Amino acid sequence: MLKVLKFGGTSVGTLERIQNVANIIKKIKDEGHDVIAVVSAMSGETNKLLEYAANFSNNPEANEIDMLLSSGERVTSALLSIALNEQGYKATSMSGREAGIVTDNAHTKARIESIDTTNMKNALNDGKVIIVAGFQGVTEDSKRVSTLGRGGSDLTAVAIAGAIEADVCEIYTDVDGIYTTDPRIEPRAKKLDKISYDEMLELASLGAKVLQNRSVEMAKKLNVNLVSRSSFTPEVEGTLITKEENIMEKPVVSGIALDRNQVRVGMYGVIDRPGIASSIFTALADANINVDMIVQTRGLDGTTDLDFTIPRTDWEDCKKVMEKFKTETKNIDYNDTICKVSIVGVGMKSHTGVASKAFSALANENINIRIISTSEIKISMVVEEKYAELAVRALHDAYNLDK
Ligand code: ASP
Ligand code: MG
Repeated sequence: MLKVLKFGGTSVGTLERIQNVANIIKKIKDEGHDVIAVVSAMSGETNKLLEYAANFSNNPEANEIDMLLSSGERVTSALLSIALNEQGYKATSMSGREAGIVTDNAHTKARIESIDTTNMKNALNDGKVIIVAGFQGVTEDSKRVSTLGRGGSDLTAVAIAGAIEADVCEIYTDVDGIYTTDPRIEPRAKKLDKISYDEMLELASLGAKVLQNRSVEMAKKLNVNLVSRSSFTPEVEGTLITKEENIMEKPVVSGIALDRNQVRVGMYGVIDRPGIASSIFTALADANINVDMIVQTRGLDGTTDLDFTIPRTDWEDCKKVMEKFKTETKNIDYNDTICKVSIVGVGMKSHTGVASKAFSALANENINIRIISTSEIKISMVVEEKYAELAVRALHDAYNLDK
């Protein structure tokens, strides 16, 4: 098999840990696989470099920041390659440029445009392990080094796996996979063997520390089998993130996600005329505000009530947009002591009674549901934040996710 492995900052955070990663690679090589490893900078390194720059300027040139930050990943790739060579494994480090990664010109947030795999294929044919410095490429126009945005090494790994048609892309962090819910909230949470791309994207809050969302989207697009596993317990099989067709037994519910960063916006007594929803939500979209759940209730006397949720980070911008609708609304209020709990599962598509079970589970705990929204594979409910953990545990229990 051809395996692309990615080791995050914590996994290469010290010299001992870099040796540990070398040992993981040696074992996989000994099993007869070809290996391309993508590495992050040692943990804390990228932030340290940014602080250095801030010492000289509040507004450094983006292409200089890329020159600076790309060095962090290069250090790890070279050290890892040196460690492997010393132990008799043929290895070679590659910068993003050497790995053939060409990006657009958007320094510090570049997008990968293409990957020329010739260099990597030649090295593999020579029996070499390739260690690629993650998070970087070269711009197509000025041929300067570029970086892909924070956490971008995951993208490097997925993009390479897609371009070179690797059998699997294993993302090593300090967590051994994706769990049915946050184990800090529900200690009985179980590690999932398999999960579909779409479920993973909906459960983003559970994978947040493990997988960058952009890279899951890319894996879906390029059809790359992703595995989330730990470099600290490499003997433990992680979670496979793959396309739905590859999952034979589809659980009705795969996991419970919690989002505490939502604010509920209530617009009461909105003049009920055709086009009002369109003008409100167009104005919010124009301000780049990510509206999530929306409910409109039947009003009285030619008015209606609208409730919707937004990320807390968009709150100030949202207030500005709401100013425009003051004259058409009796009252606008905000509630940030709420949270959103979601149950996610592809099996929902073909089962009935999934939603009612969730509602009963919360009712049994006397938890009031403020807003409900559903999609094909997700049911989300807004509840008071003080019930967040109780709600997660009640739902985890209702769908027997600990079994
Ligand atoms: N070192 C970069 C960062 O900290 C990229 C990465 O780790 O994926 O954002
Ligand atoms: Mg990282």
